[in-house]
Amino acid sequence: MATTSEIVKAQIQITNDRLWVNEDGSVTCDNHAGVYLASAIKAKPKAKSHRTPLGTWDAFTLNLLGALPCETCVDWSTLDLSELK
Ligand SMILES: [Zn+2]
Repeated sequence: MATTSEIVKAQIQITNDRLWVNEDGSVTCDNHAGVYLASAIKAKPKAKSHRTPLGTWDAFTLNLLGALPCETCVDWSTLDLSELK
């Protein structure tokens, strides 16, 4: 039986781009970072963690996240997980 990760990976393009994960579970990429995160990245381009007024964002890669993509790049509600049954 396929894992969620495998099914999601089959529907999205895996890249080594870093993703930012907030403590509330939000996932975003550099391109879709909000104003706070974008300016924090600009200030410290190499930091793996950024504290903003909207929470702390930690850097991950798609592989580390088990294929959880940026929620703006890929609308999570459109992922087809029906194969899991
Ligand atoms: Zn994105």
